[in-house]
Amino acid sequence: MLDTALQRLQDTWGYSEFRGQQGAAITAALEGRDALVLMPTGGGKSLCYQIPGLVREGMGLVISPLIALMQDQVSALQQLGIRAAYLNSSLSPEQQRTLMEEVTRGDIELLYIAPERLLSERSLNWLSRLKLSLIAIDEAHCVSQWGHDFRQDYLLLHQLADWFPGVPRMALTATADMRTRDDICHRLALTNPERLTASFDRPNIRYSVAAKTNARAQLLQFLNGRQGQAGIVYCLSRKKVESTAEWLQSKGFNALPYHAGLPQELRQHHQQRFLADDAVIMVATIAFGMGIDKPDVRFVAHMDLPKAVESYYQETGRAGRDGEPAEAWMVYGLQDVVRLGQMLDNSDMAEDIKREERQKLNALLGWCEMTECRRTALLAYFGEEYPGPCQNCDVCLDPPSTWDGTEAAQKLLSCIYRSGQRFGAGHVIDILMGKDNDKIRQYGHQELSTWGIGKGLSQSRWQSVLRQCLVQGLVVADSARFGALTLTEKARPLLKGERRLQLREDIAEPALRKRMSKAASSVSDSDRALWEALRECRKQLAEENGVPPYVIFHDATLMAMMEQRPQSLSQMSHISGVGAAKLDRFGGAFLEVLQGA
Ligand code: ADP
Ligand code: ZN
Repeated sequence: MLDTALQRLQDTWGYSEFRGQQGAAITAALEGRDALVLMPTGGGKSLCYQIPGLVREGMGLVISPLIALMQDQVSALQQLGIRAAYLNSSLSPEQQRTLMEEVTRGDIELLYIAPERLLSERSLNWLSRLKLSLIAIDEAHCVSQWGHDFRQDYLLLHQLADWFPGVPRMALTATADMRTRDDICHRLALTNPERLTASFDRPNIRYSVAAKTNARAQLLQFLNGRQGQAGIVYCLSRKKVESTAEWLQSKGFNALPYHAGLPQELRQHHQQRFLADDAVIMVATIAFGMGIDKPDVRFVAHMDLPKAVESYYQETGRAGRDGEPAEAWMVYGLQDVVRLGQMLDNSDMAEDIKREERQKLNALLGWCEMTECRRTALLAYFGEEYPGPCQNCDVCLDPPSTWDGTEAAQKLLSCIYRSGQRFGAGHVIDILMGKDNDKIRQYGHQELSTWGIGKGLSQSRWQSVLRQCLVQGLVVADSARFGALTLTEKARPLLKGERRLQLREDIAEPALRKRMSKAASSVSDSDRALWEALRECRKQLAEENGVPPYVIFHDATLMAMMEQRPQSLSQMSHISGVGAAKLDRFGGAFLEVLQGA
């Protein structure tokens, strides 16, 4: 049976083999069994249900929580020559009626439907009279309250077992959180589901984290050489989103802002531009991203620290869904550490939740200060063993050096102590550096024995020391007292000289980037013209067909064309990603470009 599925993969999608767990998931569905498919973003979940949905007798039903996502998938399927459609509130009553007639007649192969639309008595009645090949429940973590996108109506999906006996159900999610995963099978009432778990590693994403010195200059340096790539720049606040987008525009980048405070239409317009163009930078708060499955996002940059490893993994996971090289880049500094802690303290969450959130934040901070492979640690956080080192993170590529920070930390800690544990980072560092300003005089701090004992180190060095002391829990910033630094029990052995402290050297940007700055996905100069011509051809076809460029062909397919230079349609048909329908419709146009090269 898998042979038929494989044939379908080759004919329609132009791919030569299944990836990872795809074959197993498809087999389960073809044999009529339920399954839970856990794969990271970009792992290839959609094929797991699309193929059995098409190959088995009857119509495949796909439950999806987001209208934008449905439309995206359906238009991509239509380009492949598949009769796919979606039923949701974006259609007029008239359109809905017409579609329902088509479905009843058996003219639709795959129907995407919103849960609230499906779960009405009328819809269930109607659909239960039809022959269904399979029911896929996409974004299945929405059924779990633990998850980040809980949806009330997902809870009702357990009814499907009774309404559609004998129809295999497949739940799919990219959530890496164990607790959520366990919850899903139970709440969806899957029958003896086959659990198919892929590695949550995203090997094509390169992770890097640098200490924040001058965030804008650092971003600019990162973007240098990445013109023409699509990316997301995350900022914590709406204000910062707007100012950063403006600033990037002034530097000649095609940047657009996105946050929940912008008018709905403008937001939608920006999102549309991001999807429809292959080189827009979206500057956004985390309000942006859910349901964006643009495959060719080449980088995700964090200008501020996310609140937990889970969010970091999810946000960076939006890069490189197409499997091509992509970057997860982040700068963070002392201010982030202090501010996020304060935000947590001042929030009105219950105490136990706050404690849990604080632990999560600490885990992320610890990860930022890693001196070993980041990928290994990231996967370990989600309970996965990864042999490492990965050779595709900043630590592997440019191992940070450490220095003995014992004496510096002792100076810092005693300075905090002597000034009464009442002052914030800025003032404490001023004392250390022997500054002579109003505030110092006002408190008579030039009289302290610790005044000026830190003249030997620069301000940024002190910030680095303090940041690492905070991350290690030697010091806390008390938000009830405006970030006043206070020593913890852990500081004692260090002050007494009973333990030493190794600190991570903050990496000077230019040196670090030497090896890293070669953008992971780069086209050689001699290929540049052909690459641009292929992209231009894709862009035109995309406009003619009213779809985003990646729906015509992914970057990987254009890359393959550039490398193999097919000279006939039959040669073209061997390129990965060129299926029958696309060969027929677009093959000629690309062939012309290649022949002209
Ligand atoms: P997910 O939904 O898990 O995030 P997708 O289903 O969108 O992932 O697939 C990610 C990318 O991988 C898509 O570009 C898809 O075309 C590609 N892909 C999936 N399966 C295969 C395969 N067997 N061979 C080649 N490419 C594949
Ligand atoms: Zn690594």
